[in-house]
Amino acid sequence: MFISRNHLFKQGEEETLIHCFFHMATSKLLLTFAICRLIVTVGLTLDPTELLLLGVDGQLSVDPSDVETASLDFGLLTRAAPPLAVLHPASAQDIAQLIKAAYGSDFGFTVSARGHGHSINGQAQTANGVVVQMSGSKRGSGRKPPQPRVWPREKYVDVWGGELWIDVLRSSLEYGLAPKSWTDYLYLSVGGTLSNAGISGQAFNHGPQISNVHELDVVTGKGELLTCSEEQNSELFHAVLGGLGQFGIITRARISLEPAPQRVRWIRVLYSNFSAFTRDQEYLISLHGEAGSQKFDYVEGFVIADEGLINNWRSSFFSPRNPVKISSLEPNGGVLYCLEITKNYLESTASTIDKEVESLLKRLDFIPATVFTTDLLYVDFLDRVHKAELKLRSKGLWEVPHPWLNLFVPKSKIGDFDKGVFKGILGNKTSGPILIYPMNKHK
Ligand SMILES: Cc1cc2nc3c(=O)[nH]c(=O)nc-3n(C[C@H](O)[C@H](O)[C@H](O)COP(=O)(O)OP(=O)(O)OC[C@H]3O[C@@H](n4cnc5c(N)ncnc54)[C@H](O)[C@@H]3O)c2cc1C
Repeated sequence: MFISRNHLFKQGEEETLIHCFFHMATSKLLLTFAICRLIVTVGLTLDPTELLLLGVDGQLSVDPSDVETASLDFGLLTRAAPPLAVLHPASAQDIAQLIKAAYGSDFGFTVSARGHGHSINGQAQTANGVVVQMSGSKRGSGRKPPQPRVWPREKYVDVWGGELWIDVLRSSLEYGLAPKSWTDYLYLSVGGTLSNAGISGQAFNHGPQISNVHELDVVTGKGELLTCSEEQNSELFHAVLGGLGQFGIITRARISLEPAPQRVRWIRVLYSNFSAFTRDQEYLISLHGEAGSQKFDYVEGFVIADEGLINNWRSSFFSPRNPVKISSLEPNGGVLYCLEITKNYLESTASTIDKEVESLLKRLDFIPATVFTTDLLYVDFLDRVHKAELKLRSKGLWEVPHPWLNLFVPKSKIGDFDKGVFKGILGNKTSGPILIYPMNKHK
């Protein structure tokens, strides 16, 4: 929570009120509506001329569908009181103006950044405030936020805070480059994942996404637009990365790139013994300092409950080409664990990939004859969850409540966690994927 003077930067415990700002004459009717609503909602009288002074290049909207969208998220668990308005910014300056107005006003109002709205529990919402809709602001005519700019020699890309990772990938691939650290799903915004951490199977090697950022432009709670990095305004830099949107709004991120692999060998192996599973996972992430040929590029894993779509929606990997009868491997109804690993490669080095994979697999202690392998384009691997999304959407199973939980469990307690939770509370009766993989703490 960022509070400046007596103003709140986001939805909070203290006063909650709003000014709405319009610069176009055509917006006057809507403005009057917003002010009336404001007066009714929070019982305050505002000077409408003050609102008219704010000239944003983007759009300040009180359209009911915008307001409705901004009061929902992917979790579908929380429906906050709607915001009074939604700003679709055309630039960082639009956001700076809005926040300056809130900071300078006698009353203040709450402001919340919203990326692609894939939070679980209302993190991007604000009741009776203004939501800054960072993603999707490129729609319509008029000025729009900047497109990604790739710096091929320096190997980084400058992107708008609301840019989706799928678009960051597409832009950088035009130069044969790609970001190093990912989330499993790419239809999330840069500002949204950098406000959390951005963790996936590459994090053991490169660190989470927040460890792969050179610098940021941030609009602070006073409405200043500041550039920050390890060297410049470093306190702000470290506060904003993983800051849950409470320390400023990220308008630009400079993200580190590497030469993009072309293909991925994607492998899954199964375990019935939890200690063997975690021992192998921990061994694989301990190889992070080794040369590329001596380690995998991605290490994740999950608990296998049954073969239904709801539990295994992240891909239909095991079937139909790779059918596996789980009951035949674990006839006592016990829990199975799947180690998921990948090796990236270029078509020019395809001849060595089999040997490299074989040599790494030899060191692991999975159930013999449970190696499931597929080979695909790098982009298709990174975008794998989107395919599952389309499948679930077609069955009406995507826009449903998602009571998801992420936990960091210390290595010393992971065995107890398995006994108590996977084998205990859950048994093999779950609905939804349960991912489990280790992280190198120092990354
Ligand atoms: C299908 C799916 C798969 C996922 N997989 C992973 C995964 O593998 N790894 C992982 O780490 N996470 C994963 N997540 C979680 C995801 O990273 C977070 O929910 C993330 O916040 C979503 O991004 P968003 O753009 O939708 O953010 P929103 O929900 O819009 O916002 C999230 C938070 O960030 C703040 N925020 C948004 N934009 C900005 C900005 N520009 N500046 C400052 N603050 C901002 C908001 O105020 C809010 O607090 C997954 C989520 C889904 C739905």
